[in-house]
Amino acid sequence: MGNLLEVKDLHVSFGTYAGEVQAVRGVSFEVKHGEAVGIVGESGCGKSVTAKSIMKLLSTPPANYKSGSIIFNGSDMIPKSEKEMQKIRGNEISMIFQDPMTSLNPTSKIGNQIMEAVLQHNKIPRKEAREVARKMLELVGIPQPEKRLDQYPHEFSGGMRQRAMIAMALACRPKLLIADEPTTALDVTIQAQILELMKDLQQKTETSIILITHDLGVVAEMCDRVIVMYAGKVVETGTVEEIFEKPQHPYTKGLLKSVPRLDMDKKEPLAPIIGTPPDLLDPPKGCSFYARCEMAMRICKDYSPELEEVDKGQTAACWLHHPMATMKKASGK
Ligand code: SF4
Ligand code: MG
Repeated sequence: MGNLLEVKDLHVSFGTYAGEVQAVRGVSFEVKHGEAVGIVGESGCGKSVTAKSIMKLLSTPPANYKSGSIIFNGSDMIPKSEKEMQKIRGNEISMIFQDPMTSLNPTSKIGNQIMEAVLQHNKIPRKEAREVARKMLELVGIPQPEKRLDQYPHEFSGGMRQRAMIAMALACRPKLLIADEPTTALDVTIQAQILELMKDLQQKTETSIILITHDLGVVAEMCDRVIVMYAGKVVETGTVEEIFEKPQHPYTKGLLKSVPRLDMDKKEPLAPIIGTPPDLLDPPKGCSFYARCEMAMRICKDYSPELEEVDKGQTAACWLHHPMATMKKASGK
């Protein structure tokens, strides 16, 4: 399978009164056709900024794409104008958010909103667009879709609104769906239904998915591959099995121990990662995880480790995987 998306050495920063926040610092990853990739990490680690960069949706405050490229379907998104991006957004790449109301207009009927999304990118008669909208509502499991088309978002329950948003996002058959914490606001049962639905639709439509979440359980459920981010960088990548069964980066190990998961032994105590991530106004020059890492060595303070292959396809950015580390480990910090 070829790559649908290739993000290469992306650097994104924001100008603030306090200075320049380096939100994304050299992020690289790929998404293959039909693949579901999870991006995980604590809030502020740059996962949402990375995702929004792909759609060039960072306008407040204005983002500075300092370097790197975002190759989607063979062309770089970074130099594209707003007008060119409008043709891509909602058509080739769609995004769904935690709060459906950020995508749904409360004053317009659900059917009209989906139709508009379709008509914006396709020259078809309104009647046909309405039929597409009806089919989409049916596809996402909304009962009585014909009647529901003429209702407003407030007449839908939270879970139904989420389904309607997914219907709208998928109405133009995008090649890539970016979902930013799509189920966080929903109760557990509805959350499971929505994830099941997304997985099912992904398989049916062969859409690639980027799922951004702090919830590792959701990733285990949905994704083929995982990207772990910390302080604006990718610190580990691997398949879901690799990340859950043999994590290589101390941060990934910490994350796995700090959040409850379905497959965890109930008696296993949760262990939060002590400390806070570094200030991205002035990121450390060495390993970003240094201040919180139990395994830190002297080299970690001054030199930043590169992302390197630690096992076939699994990568990690940590000095422990350097051939010299066995010697250094003994010396401590
Ligand atoms: Fe810890 Fe050093 Fe690895 Fe960073 S490079 S995660 S500080 S061991
Ligand atoms: Mg976020």
